[in-house]
Formats: sequence, C-alpha cells, structure tokens
Amino acid sequence: MPTDATALVELKQRHMIPCLYHFYRRPPVIVRGEMQYLFDAAGRRYLDAYAGVTVMNAGHCNPAITEPAIAQIRTLQHTTTIYLAEPLYRLAERLTAFIGGGLDRVFFVNSGSEANEGALLLSRLYTGRPGFIHLNGGLHGRTALTMGLTGLEMWRTDPFPPPHLYRAPRPHCAQCELSQTFGSCGYACVEAVRALLRQHGDIAALIAEPIQGNGGIIVPPDGYFERLRDVLHEAGALLVFDEVQCGFGRTGRRFAFQHTGIEPDILTVAKALGNGFPIAAFCTRAAIAAAYTKPGASTTGGNPVAAAAALAVLQYHESQRLAERAAELGGNLRSRFAAMARGRPCIAEVRGRGLMLGLELAVAGTPLPALTDWVLEEMKDRGFLIGKTGRGRNVLTFMPPLVVTREDLDALCTALDEVLRRVGPDGAVPGQG
Ligand code: PMP
Repeated sequence: MPTDATALVELKQRHMIPCLYHFYRRPPVIVRGEMQYLFDAAGRRYLDAYAGVTVMNAGHCNPAITEPAIAQIRTLQHTTTIYLAEPLYRLAERLTAFIGGGLDRVFFVNSGSEANEGALLLSRLYTGRPGFIHLNGGLHGRTALTMGLTGLEMWRTDPFPPPHLYRAPRPHCAQCELSQTFGSCGYACVEAVRALLRQHGDIAALIAEPIQGNGGIIVPPDGYFERLRDVLHEAGALLVFDEVQCGFGRTGRRFAFQHTGIEPDILTVAKALGNGFPIAAFCTRAAIAAAYTKPGASTTGGNPVAAAAALAVLQYHESQRLAERAAELGGNLRSRFAAMARGRPCIAEVRGRGLMLGLELAVAGTPLPALTDWVLEEMKDRGFLIGKTGRGRNVLTFMPPLVVTREDLDALCTALDEVLRRVGPDGAVPGQG
C-alpha cells in the first residue's frame, strides 16, 4: 500500500475526478487517529484543529463510539426501513430528546446534502409552494437544489441551477453588504428578505446556517433570527436551520440555534452525529411532519451500524458534557486570538462561538488567501492542522474535536503566535517578495 504522498497524489491525478483538491503543498499522509490527534505515515503527531471539517467532535477512533459500532457490525448490518430493527427507532427517540423542544419527528439519511434536500422537500409539501430563499455565503450541499441554494461561488458548480431560488444578503455586521451600521439599520437584511417574500409569492422556506461555516464563521447579530422567523411566518413560509456544521456542541450549546432564542421549523444535522459514520437527519414538529405521508425511504439512511454509532455519540456528548467544554475552552481561545490580533493589521476580525472560531486575514478589506495558505502550511509543519473558510478563502478556521485540552490549545496559540510574528503589516507572504 503506498503511504508516500507523491505516489498517492499520482494515483489521485490518474483516477479521481479532478474537482477533488487537498490542502498543503507538502501534504502529510494521515494513517491513524486518536481522539484530538492525527498521525502521519512518518509517525508525526498533529493536533487536528479542524476535526475533518467538524465531524469528529467526540474524537478520532473514540472507543466509546467505535466499540458499540463494531458490536453492531458483528450482529446486524443492514435491513432498510421495510423491516423493523431497534437501533433506528432508539436513535430517533434519543436524538429528539437531545435536541429538546418541539422538534420530535425525524427522518434519517446519509449526508448533509441529503438532509437539506429532505428538509426542502418537506417545506414544499407543507406549504404547497416551490420557492426558497437562501443567504449569501451559505453552503448547503452538492445536490441540484442544495447547490443552487449555496451562496458561495466556489461551491456553485452546476451551470444550470434550478428555478425558484432567491438569494438575500447575509447578516455580517462588520462587513455589512447593505452598507449599514448595526443599531441604526432596522435589520435591513431582514427587510431584504421581507421584500423577496412580497416580490415572489411562492416561497416555501428560507434555509440558513445559524453560524455560517464555509462562509467564514459568520455569527449574525442578536435579534436577527427572531425577526427573520417572524417575517417568514407572517408570509406563511418556514425557517430551516442547517446545523450540519455548527451542531453537536461545537458552538458551546448542543445546537447553535439554542443561542438565538428561537427554534427552527425544520433542523438538519449530519457530520458530528455519526462522528465519522455516515448518518444525517432532518427533524421537525409533528404538524409539519404530517405533510409527508407519501412513501419515502432511504436505503442505508440510519442503518443499524450508523445508528448504533450515533447512539453512542449522543451518550458520549451527554456524559462528557462536550458542549459545556466547547464553551469554556472556546471562550478562552477566543480571548487569546483577540489578544493576538491587537497590533497585527493583517488580522481583520476574530469571530465565532465556542470551538467554532475564525480569524480573517485581510488588509484594508483585501483578503489574503496566499498568506492564509502559508499559515496553514507553517502550522502543519509545527504539528497543527487548521482549516480555511471564507468567500476569499482567507479565514483561518479552528474547529478541533471537543475533547481537546487546554494544553493542546495553549500549544496551538504559541505556534500560531510564532508563525504570525513573521508576517509584516502589509500581510505579504514571508520570503516571497
Ligand atoms: N451544509 C453545511 C453547512 C455543510 O458545511 C456541508 C458540508 N460541508 C453540507 C451541508 C453538505 O454536507 P455533506 O457533504 O455531508 O453532503
């Protein structure tokens, strides 16, 4: 088996569809994971500060999750929903209790895209309308509808997006797209949604991430979602929250919507629910679920193995209080980042909640994607894997497994400080020009 990076890149170029890309000029070959750490073929240890894009919230190869899944593989792997098997229904009970509130009906699928597609279908069935509103900077998946509702040009590959999709400004006050100032704006971005609802009488729902992930870790201002929900409900439209990325303890609460004071009409979850096993779901209230009665099935969605793993994931989150851990460790990390940003003009903004944090690299409003790549490479060479997001691919992104320790994060800050010390006020990539 080739474990040499050059051999793997060659295989990749020879056999993969070329849309797949990887991080790093000198990529490590990852061979093993253990809680918050990854190990490469040369035996080097890395702190994984991206958690496989916030999938591994409960840690890599965590035996509390892998052991029940292995036991399930040995007992019963697959049935489909045409036969009764226990794990799926136990998971539905446990997941809806974990979410709390009124979202007590659920449908299991395999991926975030599929969960969102299901939520959109349900919105159409419930309202009898075809249209959707989405936000600039949002990402919702790779299917025709979810890609059409993705507001990041980089991920909008389909040249023929479906009809009835309308885009609204995103609520990012520090860089307001409507050139307003929070406090005197009257929530102009919500008013823009109201205008779209009036203009197009056919809107079934608005889909949004409570905190945009790929869009660059964007936290809307207080009061935004309350107003948005009211405006949608007045027009008979639903609010769908995509928590594929920000769910499961990441932001310091079990779900990011719990910071907003409101509950969505439909919630989608994926990634960290399976902690590496493919499982996702859309969840809603009984009254909305009642609109979906025509037969629906997902062949492997919520199969016994993925369901057993997800049950163990929820158990682990609860027993280890991972959301509380994210709130505490994330609060501390954010303060350290804020201190690092002082006197460093290339750090335009520090943002996020819990252990979902972003550091935007820009000078005078110009994004610095090359510097971002350089920082990622330097951090990797020091044993830290961090992510990048943002419309300009210029937001250093920190989303480690929630089992990370204070010492790990101290070491990450020391390394980041060392790397950033080499960057001048103009944000030029050190050693290039
Ligand atoms: N929604 C959000 C917010 C995401 O971040 C992603 C994936 N990055 C998706 C949907 C799509 O999920 P999947 O890749 O599992 O289809």
